[in-house]
Amino acid sequence: MPKLDLRNPIFHDDDAAREHLEGLLWPDGPVCPRCGVMGDRITKLQGKSTRPGVHKCKDCRKPFSVTVGTVMERSHIPLSKWALAAQLMSSSKKGMSALQLHRMLGTNYETAWFLFHRLREAASDPSSPPIGGENKVIEADETFVGGKAKNKAFGPPPKKMAVFTLIERDGEARSRHVPDVTAKTLRESLVTQADRKSYLMTDEAPTYVKVGREFAGHGSVNHSADEYVRGGFWHTNTAEGYFAILKRGVYGAFHSVSEAHLSRYLAEFDFRYNRRDMTDAERAADLLRGAKGKRLLYRRPDRAAHA
Ligand SMILES: [Zn+2]
Repeated sequence: MPKLDLRNPIFHDDDAAREHLEGLLWPDGPVCPRCGVMGDRITKLQGKSTRPGVHKCKDCRKPFSVTVGTVMERSHIPLSKWALAAQLMSSSKKGMSALQLHRMLGTNYETAWFLFHRLREAASDPSSPPIGGENKVIEADETFVGGKAKNKAFGPPPKKMAVFTLIERDGEARSRHVPDVTAKTLRESLVTQADRKSYLMTDEAPTYVKVGREFAGHGSVNHSADEYVRGGFWHTNTAEGYFAILKRGVYGAFHSVSEAHLSRYLAEFDFRYNRRDMTDAERAADLLRGAKGKRLLYRRPDRAAHA
């Protein structure tokens, strides 16, 4: 189990959790989510009938709290439970199941499942820049998850799903669920997520030969010849290590992952990997910061005007 100080008030006191969140999302004080104004344009509403943490904007005259515009907006889950769920997700190396979260939080299973999926949205970074660059090595590798049938008597086995991961050595990972592992699909993923000034390292699959020529250099490892580490440089061990952790999560913690949600799990694993040098508390704080600006993804266009 991750080291976790459950005595921290943010995990059981909703006011403390809200203040913690305000500190993370509003480092310079409250900001109106509609107008972007702050400072003396904002008043804190205080009254017996007012919910704690509600502010009012003098420009648009609308009330708001710190969860507006985040993945936590309009959920009825107490903020202390969000804080604890974020801490647990951030500190569990191979992920934690919603079942285990439900037991730890004392919520029902559906609430735990919802919490983790919303936090995976917070972990995702759709604007992440390409990795690599001059004198950088990027390992590219693909793997399959799923497809392990528990009982073959019940229908066809679940679908095997392809995952393509790029990892800059000593840098960040970019993992994507891809429909197939053809040269065309992998090239598309490579050139949008990796700087072509990088040195590309792959296995000897013919799919990489052509795209490899677009990079500053291309090395490959012959896995079938048991040649995993040639000269300490020609290897894809970083990507292999990443997949090992991912698979321990998919088969050990989650037991199975549906195709509809695979991208979210990959965002979670990339999030932790890319912050592996942080403390658990720093990683959890970063996860809560990521909650901002994601609420829009759930909003139906026809409701946007009233949301
Ligand atoms: Zn406003």
